Amino acid sequence: MTEVFEGTFTQQEPIPEAAIEAAVAQMRTGRLHRYNLVGDEVGEVSLLEEEFGAYTGARYCLAVASGGYALATALRAVGVTPGDRVLTNAFTLAPVPGAIASLGAVPVFIGVTEGLVIDLEDLAAKADQADVLMLSHMRGHIADMDALMTLCNARGITVIEDCAHTMGARWNGVLSGRHGTIGCYSTQTYKHMNSGEGGLIVTDDEDVAARCVMLSGSYMLYGKHRAAPGPEVFERVKYVTPNISGRMDNLRAAILRPQLRDLARQCERWNERYRTVEAGLEDAPGLTLIPRPEKEDYVMSSFQFLLLDWAGDRITEVVRRCAARGVELKWFGAAEPVGFTSRYDSWRYVASEPMPASDRVLRGILDLRLPLTFSLEDCALIARIIRAEVSAVYQEAG
Ligand SMILES: *Cc1c(COP(=O)(O)O)cnc(C)c1O
Repeated sequence: MTEVFEGTFTQQEPIPEAAIEAAVAQMRTGRLHRYNLVGDEVGEVSLLEEEFGAYTGARYCLAVASGGYALATALRAVGVTPGDRVLTNAFTLAPVPGAIASLGAVPVFIGVTEGLVIDLEDLAAKADQADVLMLSHMRGHIADMDALMTLCNARGITVIEDCAHTMGARWNGVLSGRHGTIGCYSTQTYKHMNSGEGGLIVTDDEDVAARCVMLSGSYMLYGKHRAAPGPEVFERVKYVTPNISGRMDNLRAAILRPQLRDLARQCERWNERYRTVEAGLEDAPGLTLIPRPEKEDYVMSSFQFLLLDWAGDRITEVVRRCAARGVELKWFGAAEPVGFTSRYDSWRYVASEPMPASDRVLRGILDLRLPLTFSLEDCALIARIIRAEVSAVYQEAG
């Protein structure tokens, strides 16, 4: 009997009851705007900022409208201006180069290793081209952050971390988002907390924090924030920082606060699913698993493997056969971007040099989501299907 998987790769869990109740209660007040407060009331957004700041250990935290908005705001807050070059990953998703381009700045792509992290040799080689690195921890794979920060500090490069896929993950005990000057997170539906859309910014730098608050559109109401610097810091920036509205609202914050309380447990559940798929694919012929460094405490809500140096038509055949059995694989090597699988040469608004070593890796990357609606049995079944179809195509190819 041929097993078929019947789950949906884009189906997240429902919003927890406590979050639904908090959202309904907030709606009953009618006060959804973060600064629409009564007397000395502390709004949901300010509380979320305080709690996420405490969770990350950051001095300052700002909640915003999306992860992409967080990235663009971080770039502005560290002083990137039109025409500036910004280093970033060749292997990431479209909002990352998009945030850079939204300022009129120019992405300079750094290669990807077989471990699916930024290539530190390539970073060193291009370090003199820019003062800022927007580092994407793409698909939850974390580079050697000790080596990366040593390199960037030595070269005077400010690091902004894109933690859209690493909320809750650590390198060498330090949370992702806490190595660089700024950490940016997304709370969009497919990330580790779900408010539909949303973003969070953390930093220890008071001027950066105050600029982010002004940029997000605080209408001089920054005094209402709980995780922001004091008024003396705002005096330095408030007349010279434009308002580029992108605030979070109380409704989304109400949905997120109960999820933050569950985050650690949810991260464990993702990792159980990841490890089940990983175990099921171990030693599969023709298939390369991504080794995970000992210093990395990952949180994997998706799974990647490589079909390294396979012909394109053979990979397409694997994708087709798995799809026929209900397993949706996304291939980053396809000629045209499909859904989210774009790569550096898909972003044609940026001039990029060919990167043969990275192209070889990108051509081999297969990607699947592991939503928490999948049971561990589902994950074992998914692995059996992938293993069987990869093996079949691999043997046919000889
Ligand atoms: C989702 C995502 C973002 C941006 O998040 P949005 O909230 O969708 O704007 C940034 N980087 C990566 C790698 C992402 O996957």
